[in-house]
Amino acid sequence: MVISATWNYPTSVRFGAGRIAELAEALATARIAKPLFVTDPNLARLPPTQGALGLLEAAGVPVGVFSDVKPNPVEANIVAGVAAFRSGAHDGVVAFGGGSALDAGKLIAFAAGQTRPIWDFEDVGDQWRRADAARIAPVVAIPTTAGTGSEVGRAAVVTDATTRTKKVIFHPGMMPAVAICDPRLTVGMPPRITAGTGMDALAHCLEAYCGPFYHPLADGIAVEGIRLVKQSLARAVQQGDDLEARADMMEAATMGATAVHKALGAVHALSHPVGALYDTHHGMTNAVFLPYVLVFNRKAIDEKIKRLAAYVGLKPSFRAFLDWVLALRAEIGVPHTLAGLDIGDDQLDLIAAMAVKDPTAAGNPVPLDKRAVRTIFKRALEGRL
Ligand code: NAD
Repeated sequence: MVISATWNYPTSVRFGAGRIAELAEALATARIAKPLFVTDPNLARLPPTQGALGLLEAAGVPVGVFSDVKPNPVEANIVAGVAAFRSGAHDGVVAFGGGSALDAGKLIAFAAGQTRPIWDFEDVGDQWRRADAARIAPVVAIPTTAGTGSEVGRAAVVTDATTRTKKVIFHPGMMPAVAICDPRLTVGMPPRITAGTGMDALAHCLEAYCGPFYHPLADGIAVEGIRLVKQSLARAVQQGDDLEARADMMEAATMGATAVHKALGAVHALSHPVGALYDTHHGMTNAVFLPYVLVFNRKAIDEKIKRLAAYVGLKPSFRAFLDWVLALRAEIGVPHTLAGLDIGDDQLDLIAAMAVKDPTAAGNPVPLDKRAVRTIFKRALEGRL
């Protein structure tokens, strides 16, 4: 059965195959009359983009297109996007693509009305309060990957090229006004991107669930997200046109992004510096680190993982859950070691220093110091669990 549904949590979500047809209506709901359509240069050439732009043309919506967004976007992409937004006198953004384009679109809509540089709004303490919230432009977010969940998130990730760090920019007003989650848009995603983004959704759900804080709401969302990944990720990779599997993964992605309100942990603390230094795919980097972090955290999460294993239909044991993660990785082509991402130990000292400072480090269930980072990294290098 292919699902279609409309929800208002965590924002207004139009979910289901074919719902992209409601784009013009969604723009009216978000009070956007002249959108800047933000995507990436690869996706700009592909049928999903052409289809969405065709819908806007047919509806008579005047639209500008901005696609100068690299995977793992950098500040220069945002600065150029803000210039396009202002010079085109746009009043909102259609953020269309994977996490890179969604984050860039959200940041352009946010930054266009501010006078400070984006770094002043890094997700540290209450820095977001510095923003002029009334001047944040509305966003309609449309994911074409199923992983980051940025379409229902209040933050965006951008690389600071000067310090070579990935930074999270946060403001509650960055939550898109409307998300259109149409699994049909992900059907053309190549298997490797489907695998990496799907593992990103799993990493979000799992790190949130394992976080050491009291947040049963997030825990409940996370475990069901993990069940959906178990049910459908391998199928989405192997049969890209299976709309049910694509829908499950699209929903698992939004669930991961909702659950991470609770916590992220060592997978992300390591993956952020690695992504910034080696420009690797975020989800695939998470996927490589994930089992090593699970084992490293075992003493703090053993009981939780047993409960989770039972919920997703496995024998209630840590080993059974770990074996499932390892089997899934192998089945969908995730490398078992960092060598598969062309990463060696040449920058390990820097990675350890950056990882312990990453804001996600504090959410790991076992305290993460430089020694711990080195241990996890070396195991991921050698394939030693
Ligand atoms: P991505 O957006 O970088 O896209 C990867 C590649 O897939 C690109 O070449 C893109 O053109 C292509 N692609 C996207 N959709 C496609 C489709 N339907 N068919 C064919 N090709 C398609 O990848 P991503 O994993 O979605 O996003 C990663 C980015 O998101 C990173 O910058 C990461 O740091 C960020 N991120 C943000 C959040 C958040 O909450 N804001 C969470 C996790 C990750």
